[in-house]
Amino acid sequence: MTRPLNQPLGGNEMPRFGGPATMMRLPTQPSAAGLDACFVGVPLDIGTSNRSGTRLGPRAIRAESCLIRPCNLATRAVPFDSLQVADIGDVAVDTFNLIESVRLIERAYDAILGHGCVPLTLGGDHTITLPILRAMHRRLGPLGVIHVDAHADMNDQMFGEPIAHGTPFRRALEEGLIEPRRMAQIGLRASGYTSDQFDWARGLGVRVVQAEDCWYRSLAPLMEEVRAQLGAGPVYLSFDIDGLDPAFAPGTGTPEPGGLTSHQALEIIRGCRGLALVGADLVEVSPPYDASGNTALLAANLLFEMLCVLPGVKLA
Ligand code: MN
Ligand code: MN
Repeated sequence: MTRPLNQPLGGNEMPRFGGPATMMRLPTQPSAAGLDACFVGVPLDIGTSNRSGTRLGPRAIRAESCLIRPCNLATRAVPFDSLQVADIGDVAVDTFNLIESVRLIERAYDAILGHGCVPLTLGGDHTITLPILRAMHRRLGPLGVIHVDAHADMNDQMFGEPIAHGTPFRRALEEGLIEPRRMAQIGLRASGYTSDQFDWARGLGVRVVQAEDCWYRSLAPLMEEVRAQLGAGPVYLSFDIDGLDPAFAPGTGTPEPGGLTSHQALEIIRGCRGLALVGADLVEVSPPYDASGNTALLAANLLFEMLCVLPGVKLA
């Protein structure tokens, strides 16, 4: 028996500016039951260190996603012909308590994964990736990770706190959630407290590709190497929008000049096709700094591209 697959509401059925602002105008449902993949928001910004506002990220990304049509004209991916997808809304974080929020996020992802559903997350600041990885690790064991960011997010602490948006990958490596030799960081740059800040992870075997090594280049060859490095095991993709240059993505709290282009972002995500992706996030969109809405628009499109490279998505 073939099941009917959810489809985004088309612009010929309801104008694109009308109707509820769900991700890609998909149906919503309260849990991940029966889904192959879901979009889920985590409206958190109490882990940020500079300018906040990412609590408004999921809403802005959903609003800007209304223009995205169901077929990928570059890759010919037709995700809604292959997978059952819905928007399951937001995790109810405790906006007065970061540690409790981290616990609530882990519990929410436990439930999503319990349904065999691949979560595509609308952030939220980067703190959210730690509880997501904890939930993933519980079911899947140590993960491969592709981490796109201007920052390593490998701080031991921030203002004395072990949990913040600049520490998730340090904690995840310490907790054994990630296999360091199956991790690649792309787009790192700018200024730090010490000049060897990116080397702690390198010492563990993480591949660190600084932004300067991406300038003027296609990243398709890099992604071929990353696919070989990560192999056949489960892979999580964590994409901080500040990995992109502020020219493309100004709406974020800790912008750093000299970043990746939107073309390179597409090459990175499209280069994930063939990996055993078990989840992905797009974090750090801060609408108060996104005057044109372009940052949220780009984020929405990158989340669609993530959906297009999930295992099981057919090409037309
Ligand atoms: Mn980050
Ligand atoms: Mn960052």
